[in-house]
Amino acid sequence: MTREARPKKADWSEGTARKKQAGVSDMTMLSKITNEAINENLKMRFHNADIYTYIGNVLISVNPFKDLGIYTPEVLKSYENKNRMELPPHVYAIAEGAFRNMIAYSENQCVIISGESGAGKTEAAKKIMEYIAAVSGGNSSSIKEIKRMVLATNPLLESFGCAKTLRNNNSSRHGKYLEIQFNAGGEPVGAIITNYLLEKGRVVGQIRNERNFHIFYQFAKAASQEYRDKYGVLGPESYLYTSAAGCLDVPNIDDTKDYADTIKAMDVIGITPAEQDDIHRMLATILWLGNVQFVENDEGNSQITDPNITQFIAYLLEVNPEMVDKVMVSRTIETSRGGRRGSVYDVPLNIAQAQSTRDGLSKAIYDRLFNWIVMRVNKAMQARAESNYIIGVLDIYGFEIFEQNSFEQLCINYVNEKLQQIFIELTLKAEQEEYVREQIKWTPIDYFNNKVVCDLIEIKRPPGVFAAMNDACATAHADPKAADQSLSQRLTACSHSRHFELFDGNFTIKHYAGDVTYSISGMTDKNKDQLMRDHLELCKSSSNGFLQGLFPEDLTQDSKKRPPTASDRIKISANELVTKLMQSQPSYIRTIKPNENKSPSEFDDKRVLHQVKYLGLCENIRIRRAGFAYRQTFEKFVERFYLLSPQTSYAGDFIWTGDSKAACIQILKDTGIGPEEWQIGTTKTFIRHPETIWALENQREQ
Ligand code: ATP
Ligand code: MG
Repeated sequence: MTREARPKKADWSEGTARKKQAGVSDMTMLSKITNEAINENLKMRFHNADIYTYIGNVLISVNPFKDLGIYTPEVLKSYENKNRMELPPHVYAIAEGAFRNMIAYSENQCVIISGESGAGKTEAAKKIMEYIAAVSGGNSSSIKEIKRMVLATNPLLESFGCAKTLRNNNSSRHGKYLEIQFNAGGEPVGAIITNYLLEKGRVVGQIRNERNFHIFYQFAKAASQEYRDKYGVLGPESYLYTSAAGCLDVPNIDDTKDYADTIKAMDVIGITPAEQDDIHRMLATILWLGNVQFVENDEGNSQITDPNITQFIAYLLEVNPEMVDKVMVSRTIETSRGGRRGSVYDVPLNIAQAQSTRDGLSKAIYDRLFNWIVMRVNKAMQARAESNYIIGVLDIYGFEIFEQNSFEQLCINYVNEKLQQIFIELTLKAEQEEYVREQIKWTPIDYFNNKVVCDLIEIKRPPGVFAAMNDACATAHADPKAADQSLSQRLTACSHSRHFELFDGNFTIKHYAGDVTYSISGMTDKNKDQLMRDHLELCKSSSNGFLQGLFPEDLTQDSKKRPPTASDRIKISANELVTKLMQSQPSYIRTIKPNENKSPSEFDDKRVLHQVKYLGLCENIRIRRAGFAYRQTFEKFVERFYLLSPQTSYAGDFIWTGDSKAACIQILKDTGIGPEEWQIGTTKTFIRHPETIWALENQREQ
């Protein structure tokens, strides 16, 4: 069956360049549905600068790696109040659809953006936010302020949460779900950001040619003279945390300009000058901590090489300098007997232990600083009025395969696996199940369900990968090597899975997006993610209120319960996220990376084919083509379209006295659309082509 392409206006409005589209702009209209045909179509379009393509209501976006001039205010305006087929595919059309559906059907919406690292998720998320800010109403100063703040979160969180990696010069190193809250009139009244697991290990070291978080270079390069004097700020070449990986500058990134934008964003959000001072103080502390070096003393223990540096850190932290020195080279161990606290010892650290302790403090401060910023942003964006609906925009770190993969990659890939699962649940599985449930005529279509991989990672019994890691943490305490060995042993329990393989010090998971080999070394420690009591005491002893506030834990409470591990936290937040997304009407953007070289002209067939396959685009097209583009409960359908039948409306009033199902049938018959275009299920009305529903919307307008 080849669907007849209906003649459509496929160019932008007056004033913008009219351009002929290459290939098909909705791949449900491809004459042959194969991975190769999809690849060819995307390629043709990529070379013609048509980076967006639909599969029904799913937007495929291929990263152009250049400015195409397609995000001007004119182009943006041209998408307002238009349906998807009236204009060429665009991320703005997705934003428009979510916004209008929210209002038309009083339903929460979410935009789920997925794709591998560097494919264009963060850019797409920003365009969605810009679009919504531009078209949503409200001239009051409080609504304008909310819009300004929402947009300002981008430069701010990118500075603190993005970094240059080998895959992407602006790689998100945390996940982010932004919910914009609207009043009944569709005006934004507030927003909330949920943050997912920042890759804090990056603060203390990066692989060669990667960088630390952008903010450190911005600050070290562009700090004011006042900060240079007060916090001892030097250039990024002077700090090990920013220079050891051998990359200080990134093409097309202007750290000095970005620093100005970061500060401007802080001002827009209302972060006070005093708070900004404290943020900078923390950044300087971290930079200087990285420069604390150790030598071995006669007893084989570590000794601080340059006590001037720790003196300065004590000044920055506003704590007693002796305490800093002590925390750097020794560790307090407390014996406990029968749950009661016993004697306290100071155990000296060897050099490796001292380095790891120093890094632990830096990571803890940065992680908490980041969470503080998110908290502060949320406080500023708190809803000004009652919020009736929400549009959520999800932008996380993309699927990642490095030469060396560790705990961070496992968490990132796990979250991506969960997102793929939502896509499968909602577009492939639920769609087909709904047809069965609603007793619609249907021929089932096969697809790979990655739930087995999600289970392999997160299931409790038999222990999955996370459970094995938690068990290893619980048993092997002090010695990280013993803990890793214990983990190796426990992971054998996963070997029953076809998607898992364990071999000398590594394990491989066959993810939906490719096989990734993870190194076990250091994993248990990263999972345990325990803040040292000595660090807590140090920070709590500070006379700086900001620093104290970052560490609110109560030192006197000795909880017997195991604190949640890092994997516990990511598992809980990923599942909460899934629940939230499942309760909203989803729109999907699936981003594709055309090559590994950030090249605007290269289209690497092999790499794209791989993505086309694992994204399940073929199955997506098949199900879409055989299925129904629109479905709505009888009640909501009637509420929306009762004006279209003289049997259900008189002079604009609703006059039907029968049930909603009969009303639906009456309306559909009276609008004169063909009987092959719609089916009535047990609770919902189904309409085959989106064009039909738009025709109904047009009639309704009239
Ligand atoms: P990660 O998972 O690493 O965070 P990502 O999917 O968020 O990756 P982006 O940061 O959005 O990737 O995109 C990477 C780079 O590609 C951008 O910095 C930009 O240079 C370019 N890019 C992405 N989308 C577009 C676009 N629509 N137009 C022009 N350039 C783009
Ligand atoms: Mg990103």
